[in-house]
Amino acid sequence: MKPIVAKFGGSSLADAAQFRKAAEIVRADADRRYIVASAPGKRDQSDVKVTDLLYRCYDLAAAGRDFAPVLAQIRARFAEIMAELSIDFPLDDELDAIAARLREAPERDFMASRGEYLNSKLLAAYLGFRFIDAADAVRFTTDGRFLAEGTNEALASALRGADYAVVPGFYGADDTGRVHTFTRGGSDVTGALVARAVNARLYENWTDVSGMLFTDPRIVPNPGTIDRISYRELRELSYMGASVLHEDAVFPVRAAGIPINIRNTNRPDDAGTMISHNPPAATERPVTGVAGRRGFTVLQVEMSLMNNEIGFGARLLNILAAHGVSFEHCPTGIDTMSVVMDSASFNACREAVLRQIELQLRPDHLSVEEGLALIAVVGHGMGGTRGVAARVFSAVAGAGVNIRMIDQGSSELNIIIGVDDSGYEAAIRAICAAF
Ligand code: ADP
Ligand code: ASP
Ligand code: MG
Repeated sequence: MKPIVAKFGGSSLADAAQFRKAAEIVRADADRRYIVASAPGKRDQSDVKVTDLLYRCYDLAAAGRDFAPVLAQIRARFAEIMAELSIDFPLDDELDAIAARLREAPERDFMASRGEYLNSKLLAAYLGFRFIDAADAVRFTTDGRFLAEGTNEALASALRGADYAVVPGFYGADDTGRVHTFTRGGSDVTGALVARAVNARLYENWTDVSGMLFTDPRIVPNPGTIDRISYRELRELSYMGASVLHEDAVFPVRAAGIPINIRNTNRPDDAGTMISHNPPAATERPVTGVAGRRGFTVLQVEMSLMNNEIGFGARLLNILAAHGVSFEHCPTGIDTMSVVMDSASFNACREAVLRQIELQLRPDHLSVEEGLALIAVVGHGMGGTRGVAARVFSAVAGAGVNIRMIDQGSSELNIIIGVDDSGYEAAIRAICAAF
């Protein structure tokens, strides 16, 4: 039988009680042979993730300040798990080595990775599984780019010799042994890489909700769970802010056709969300989920007879690209072109970009508006159903929120609308009520 890969997120391994639940889940099915672990997450709303404590340690060390009190907090988190579960592990030696690195040559990614490293060591000891270090198998270039094929080969060969193993999530290393991490939440990506490398029959992602919810539960209480969803829909929703699964975790398993099952460690009997190639039939439901993000800026360029000028759009986008700004959407009119971008990345080079646009394009009018939120209404079912867009727009209008931008992908997989930050939550609530 092909194995199952089970990734446990931070809240699923936040303390000894959560370790017990995770171990019970692993032991319930002998096919759960490859486990990917996150660093201990929050035990309650007011808690701090170990990864955030590690970043804090690094910041203090890099500034030449005393990091010992924060390292002591980290120590306490692991010591408590070890004591309650009677795990024998040389924690003090490991932490001494980490402290020495911090004093001598602090490295941000290395520090951040220690939460996953230590937690996986503890989990491996507790389960009686082998520990396989991601630094030996998840490959990066020296400038921090992830190497998919090299990783797949290295992981497959490292795991071939292990019947039961725990692999730490979130990080890997380059040829020189220097550690690099994925972006935040990246243990989901490691789980997908391991699933691909061992040709798993299933990638289980164990977290603190019973699957992908129709929308963000912090905006709409009890939005309902999505039972089945396609890789593409999931990617759209996670990219647009449904933060339950890292947006890049889809690729390694999608190519291999390995389904992902998002499950709840605290409610292991719930079926969760199953993600695969096969979307539900269009008649079942037109909209699969709704997600959104704040913090966008619209740059609007107006010029008479823009339509006659070949290459105008390309030049505008090139100016942005030259400053490292990527654009999210680019709705155009006859004599206008708007570009929607992430506010933080635009603000980092705002003056230089505006100067270049004035200089190179000589527009009649140039304006910048901040405070835009984007909302994505996603579902394969929209393609076969008339009136979905009308329902979205009238729901938002009914909530008294003005729509500032509309973009419907040609695949009819999503409708994206832009609204004022202040109307963001009201718009999401209204759309959810309408579907
Ligand atoms: P883990 O630590 O297990 O990786 P995360 O905190 O990364 O867990 O992801 C789970 C959280 O994602 C949930 O607790 C929930 O608050 C949040 N979330 C945001 N949008 C959604 C959504 N559409 N469906 C489910 N969870 C969501
Ligand atoms: N521990 C890392 C983070 O907090 C990675 C993860 O949890 O997936 O982002
Ligand atoms: Mg996560």
